[in-house]
Amino acid sequence: RWAAATGDRRLVMASPRSFCAGVERAIRIVDSLLQTRQAPVYVRKQIVHNSRVVHGLEGRGAVFVDELAEVPDGATVVFSAHGVAPAVRADAALRGLDVVDATCPLVAKVHTEAKRFVRDGHTVLLIGHAGHEEVEGTLGEEPADTVLVQSVHDAERVQVRDPERVAYLMQTTLAADEAADVVSVLRERFPSLRGPDSDDICYATTNRQHAVRAVARQSDLVLVAGSENSSNSRRLVEVAQREGTEAHLVDDAGQVSLDWLARARTIGISAGASAPAEVVDEIVAALGALGRIRIDTHETTTEKINFTLPKEVRQQ
Ligand code: SF4
Repeated sequence: RWAAATGDRRLVMASPRSFCAGVERAIRIVDSLLQTRQAPVYVRKQIVHNSRVVHGLEGRGAVFVDELAEVPDGATVVFSAHGVAPAVRADAALRGLDVVDATCPLVAKVHTEAKRFVRDGHTVLLIGHAGHEEVEGTLGEEPADTVLVQSVHDAERVQVRDPERVAYLMQTTLAADEAADVVSVLRERFPSLRGPDSDDICYATTNRQHAVRAVARQSDLVLVAGSENSSNSRRLVEVAQREGTEAHLVDDAGQVSLDWLARARTIGISAGASAPAEVVDEIVAALGALGRIRIDTHETTTEKINFTLPKEVRQQ
């Protein structure tokens, strides 16, 4: 297997890839608290969906918990980039916890839209994946008036109180093509359907999907760095596969199977918005150990977005 996997290769690096502005901000928040506050700093849920990031912060004193009940009274707790339902905020306030909110501003925008549509008398159809933390947070904003729509199949069947007053919103990390199919079914069923002013699928998701699609078209194999529970990383694999190219999600270089490499001379490489650049570097190094590599970059756009830090961290 080793012999079959060796050989010279061309690597095509999708750009943009790896960290987005929301993930950078969330990690900086925990980082900065670890430097300035008494350990431990608690984080509700994974700060971002990446095992390398979580283990790195754990090693420096962050304690990841699933629910606020695990956080001692008076402690500092960070809400993850995926956002939380208002019930969680209320619980934290009741417990007197010192909350620092790392919710990505682009997720917070979807929460605001949900409140606005419901205030205007609409039922909100939230397009997203059941069980994802971002979806749980957004659903929790207006639970009585929000219905989750996971697929075209759901869109064909969903029932609403008043078909004239329906709006849709989206999880920020969906595959743009699949989400568009769902919206078009909803629009057919509910002609007065309203939607967000600007897309809920965020700039980082959109840009990474465009870049991986372009790279998949010229590759025999696509490797996407990212963890199994990262929605946007998994969508990158699917987008590449829809171009007819074999594609796999790998949490680190050790997960790259020699069998995949046997026939692959051109390998496209991307990374989800929560996957650190160092994982990509390790994958490239591992491929370099199998033969000579030529590295090309396929850049579909450049990103200049930055989000400001919350005041609790800025003031330190
Ligand atoms: Fe924010 Fe998009 Fe990054 Fe999610 S993927 S943290 S919504 S910028």
